[in-house]
Amino acid sequence: MKLLIVEDEYRLADMLKDWFTKKGDKVTVCVNGMDGYNTAKENKFDVIILDLMLPGKDGFSILSDLRKNKDNTPILILSARDELEDKLKGFKFGAEDYLTKPFHIEELDARVSVLAKKARDKIENGSYQNDDNCIRFANLSLDKNSHILKNVDSELSVALPSKEYTLMEYFLTNVNQLLSKDQITTYIWGYDTDVSYNNEEVYISFLRKKLRYLGCDITIETIRGSGYRLRKINGGAI
Ligand code: CA
Repeated sequence: MKLLIVEDEYRLADMLKDWFTKKGDKVTVCVNGMDGYNTAKENKFDVIILDLMLPGKDGFSILSDLRKNKDNTPILILSARDELEDKLKGFKFGAEDYLTKPFHIEELDARVSVLAKKARDKIENGSYQNDDNCIRFANLSLDKNSHILKNVDSELSVALPSKEYTLMEYFLTNVNQLLSKDQITTYIWGYDTDVSYNNEEVYISFLRKKLRYLGCDITIETIRGSGYRLRKINGGAI
């Protein structure tokens, strides 16, 4: 995992770097708040360990500025400030966790691992929207502006016509959930529609063809008599 530590106490920063490096993590240390902020902004980390009292830029403003920039990297605040007010402020500004100094390194390690695992699970098991206004799921990306559906591994892409885009977006925001034929018809064509289910099946077959063409690890499964479900294909190949 890629870890950023923003901590101005050199000895503590070194100790943390040693600990996580020995575990095989790639660790970046910043001892100044402004450096920490810029490093977090310009790189992608799995978890950030953030001190509050820092020279250059304090931890709270680093946290709130990152969140304002829609940077959702999990952040654990590690601070000597143990007042409830500070902890609540940290969570309000978008921190995932808060640990007060002095602390046990094993506890910090366990908390960091939980944050990293949660972030991984979110990416693997559900869809999420990234900063470029794309919905991502597994190796698939759907651009909400251009309506381009892309395999992010191979860079193969197709542009979706309007109805197919609406349908794909509906599936991607309801990953792993059963969507009934009625739900889909209503979502795409509205309540007052005489569109038959056959029509819906045609659009689903268009999307399936495109997913196959793109070589995505994703399938639209038919649940007999009930509806459809978008899910990841176990093992990858179709
Ligand atoms: Ca400090």
